Amino acid sequence: MQVFFSETHKRHQPRHEFIGGALVPAFDRPERAEQIAGALQQTGLFKFDQPTDLGMVPIRAIHEQDYLDFLSTAFKSWQAAGLEGSPMASNVAGSPKGPRPEYIEGVIGYYANSCETTIDDGTWEGAYASAQSAINAARYVTTGQGRSAFALCRPPGHHCEATRFGGYCYLNNAAIAAQYLRDHGTAKTAILDIDFHHGNGTQAIFYDRADVFYGSVHGDPLLTYPFYKGYSNETGTGVGAETTMNLPLGADAGNDEWLAAITALLGAIDSFGADTIVVSLGVDPHHSDPQSNFQVTTDGFSRAGHLIANAGKQTVIIMEGGYSADAIGPCVAAFLQALDDTWP
Ligand SMILES: [Zn+2]
Repeated sequence: MQVFFSETHKRHQPRHEFIGGALVPAFDRPERAEQIAGALQQTGLFKFDQPTDLGMVPIRAIHEQDYLDFLSTAFKSWQAAGLEGSPMASNVAGSPKGPRPEYIEGVIGYYANSCETTIDDGTWEGAYASAQSAINAARYVTTGQGRSAFALCRPPGHHCEATRFGGYCYLNNAAIAAQYLRDHGTAKTAILDIDFHHGNGTQAIFYDRADVFYGSVHGDPLLTYPFYKGYSNETGTGVGAETTMNLPLGADAGNDEWLAAITALLGAIDSFGADTIVVSLGVDPHHSDPQSNFQVTTDGFSRAGHLIANAGKQTVIIMEGGYSADAIGPCVAAFLQALDDTWP
């Protein structure tokens, strides 16, 4: 399988995050991507390429220009204001947003949907390169070079809205890939999000769209981040009514419940009539993950790969979360190998 992976992700080096009332070492460390790349390379079954720079147009198709300007300058603005440490939001704007504040601390909260995530020197470069991997994977599939491609994205993207960062996410790679597919000949695209956390950013971006389906299985938001979105009664609005589907699962959900939910989501995607699936692949549902309360095993990811391949559609896979150093490489490898092996 074709893999797009940019070494530029290393420029994004968050030092800490705010969680449980304390600043702790950031979960999204550069080692994550290296561990996944290493596990894939060990199999000898994957072809790695650096993404070609396809520019800002596909990113602007999802994110507003004022947000992109903020993201690319936030670190410098923070320093210019004489503030120490890494830029992070201590407040967030309500919705709909009022006027944009002028002082950088207010500006950051205006563009944030949660408060744990920092913007460091190099974050913009890392996020831009990560989005380019997603765009390259979408282009690879839509130009008929293969039925599937994997974008080894870091930082991840699915918590990021059109104008709000958060949850370690700055540019919504899956949304950018889905929109790229729509803009290049795909009539209907579905996003299947199997990360442990609900993709609140992706859902918000496509909530009122009839041409992009968003389906997610995730930890019950009553118990876990992002807490305020991801409930089963969120099903879309306007012309996008019934094009969002959320299947939250309770603590200790194992392979059987998780795979049954994926099967249900694939059924809905088939009824929707999608010709392409973008998979938001988080491997944090694994039982060893420090952020998960699920009991999914490495074999569970293999079985998920089989199920998705059996849907028989072109598939673009986007890396999202996963924080267990021992499990993330084997889980991603098991998923992608099963997907590749199952193609008819
Ligand atoms: Zn996650």
